[in-house]
Formats: sequence, C-alpha cells, structure tokens
Amino acid sequence: MNLLITGGAGFIGAHLVRHMVQKYPQYRIVNLDALTYAADLNRLVEVADAPNYRFVEADLTDFEAVQKIVLEYKIEAVIHLAAESHVDRSISGPLVFGQSNIMGTLHLLEACRNTWQNDKKHLFYHISTDEVYGALGAEGVFSVDSPYDPHSPYSASKAAADHLVRAYGTTYGLPYIISNCSNNYGPGQHREKLIPLLIDHLKHNKPLPIYGDGSHVRDWLFVADHVTAMDVIFHKGESGQTYLIGGQCEKTNLEVAQSVCDAYDRKMGQPAGTARKLITFVEDRPGHDHRYAIDPSLLEDRLGWQAQTPWEAGLETTLNWYLKNN
Ligand code: NAD
Repeated sequence: MNLLITGGAGFIGAHLVRHMVQKYPQYRIVNLDALTYAADLNRLVEVADAPNYRFVEADLTDFEAVQKIVLEYKIEAVIHLAAESHVDRSISGPLVFGQSNIMGTLHLLEACRNTWQNDKKHLFYHISTDEVYGALGAEGVFSVDSPYDPHSPYSASKAAADHLVRAYGTTYGLPYIISNCSNNYGPGQHREKLIPLLIDHLKHNKPLPIYGDGSHVRDWLFVADHVTAMDVIFHKGESGQTYLIGGQCEKTNLEVAQSVCDAYDRKMGQPAGTARKLITFVEDRPGHDHRYAIDPSLLEDRLGWQAQTPWEAGLETTLNWYLKNN
C-alpha cells in the first residue's frame, strides 16, 4: 500500500510515522510536511533511511504540488494530520489556520477525489480534535452525536475541515474516517504546549503560567496511545464512521501543573512542594473552553482499543525526555 501521512514532521505525526514505517515494512509511506516552525525532522532520524519511507517537503496550501504528490506516489490511502495546531497562535494570527487547516484539507480531498475516482478501496483518514465540540460544564462527555460548537479559530478551522471530509463522503462517495482526539502529551511535543512549557520553565526556575484560576479541565492521552488508536482505526475502522479517542484522564490545568512539579521534585531530589511554589496564575485566554471530556466507548467496544499508559507513567517518560533533550 502507498500510504500518505501528512504532518509527519510534527509531534503526533512523527510518532505515527515511526510506528507505521517500523511496523509495516510492506507499506510505502510518504510523509508530506511543509516544515513550519512546529516541524522537526530530528523526530524522524530513526526511520529517515528506511527503504519504505520517503519525506516530501510540500505545502498543502499549494494544490498543484499536492495533486502531483498523490499522482506521482500512486497514493492509495491518506492519514491527514498536517495542521496549524496551537490555539493561542490561532487567536493572535488566525489566517494561516484557515489556509492550512481548511484550504489545505480541501486541496488534499480534491487531489484524492481526482485520483481515486469512485474506487472504494481507498481511505481518507482525517485526524481531528475534541475541541470541535465546544465546552462542557461540570458534567457529561462528548460523544459522536455531540453537536459541533467550536470556539477558537483553531477549533473552528478543524471543524470546517471535518465538515469538508464528510461532504466529500456524502457528495462524491469518497471513503473516509474521522477521529477526534483529546489533548495529547509525550516526548517531542513543541515547547509552546502546556506540559513542555512547564518543564522548560522549571528547568530555568521561571514562573509557571497557568491561565485564569487553573480550573479548566482537559482529558489527557499519552501520544503512544493515540498512535495505537490511529493504527487500529486505519486498519479496522468502518468507512464513514467517526471515532472519539480519549484517555479518560481528566485533569484541571492546575492539577497538570502540580503533577509536573511533583514529578520534577522527585526527579531532582528536591523537597516535596518546592517546584509548586513557581505556579503563577495569569490572565485567562479569551474564549477559553472550560471542560472537554470524551466518551471513547465506540472505539473500545467495536475495535478493542484501550489507552494503556497511566498518567504518572506517561508524565515520567515525558519529563525524562525533556530533561535529556534541550
Ligand atoms: P504539530 O503542530 O506538532 O504538527 C503539525 C505538522 O503539520 C507540522 O509538522 C507542520 O509543519 C505541518 N503543517 C502545518 N501546516 C502545513 C501545511 N500547510 N502543509 C503541510 N504541512 C503542514 O501538531 P500535532 O500536535 O502533532 O497535531 C497533529 C494533528 O493532530 C493536527 O491535525 C491536530 O489538530 C490534531 N490533534 C492534536 C492534538 C494535540 O493534543 N496535539 C489533539 C487532537 C488532535
């Protein structure tokens, strides 16, 4: 199979590319990435020379380039991760989110439609976020039937992309699957994201900024568990289906910061509570959704997937990685 993975030089994409290249030597895997500020090819050194792997630098906003790659590599299936991914950046500069996340997805869909015609053996697997569903109160969880209600330019652009994927399925019969995942963490995430940022500030003895009163809740999933979920969905998922992926690991941002601080104290041999003194509350982000939580039962019941990594273990692995890698 000729499999195109987009955004494979990013955080989650690189974990997925390494996994797929190593686990499926019979696949030819093409990694398309524009190498934005969020990309890092060092994440891929262990597979860079693998015979079943090719990296292609290209921007999804360039339709001709995308069409050429899909044709040239005879792409039969796509796992589409490439996107602008940082909510704060979408607030200060939303245009590129529309260009990459909406137009980029549309270009890829159109290139696949042109190339695949009506052949049903192909698959367009689109990777999305739970943020498309908006915010929850103290109770309840998102399910595949939850209405879309995105609040940030990032989540709105991802929601638009999800709608375009479904529209290509309904209008042109393009075989697709969508998965919406909760917050990922793990080795190699860009330092602008919450957990790497906290670790970086701890290393430099700087205040740990927490939005508002720290009560915002996210469901956290270790990136390796997201990768196994994508693997099982790609191979066993039902065409036209949406799967929610989550770790059933709800934490307030304050709890996340406290967990990182306590793990850091243990690692450094410092008295308990030392790192927590650096926690500082800062002005809240505009439109900050209060709580996200996921019901992953469809994925668990139908495809047998389960998150395997407990929060403490995932956090320790992540912390160790950031302490080793500057
Ligand atoms: P990331 O920012 O680390 O990586 C994104 C990658 O996409 C980068 O390598 C970048 O160069 C590439 N890219 C961006 N615009 C591009 C374009 N126009 N053309 C080609 N490549 C482009 O993101 P991530 O955290 O790895 O997220 C990957 C995907 O998973 C995104 O679609 C995101 O919405 C989704 N997602 C992320 C999370 C999370 O917690 N990080 C949770 C759920 C879903």
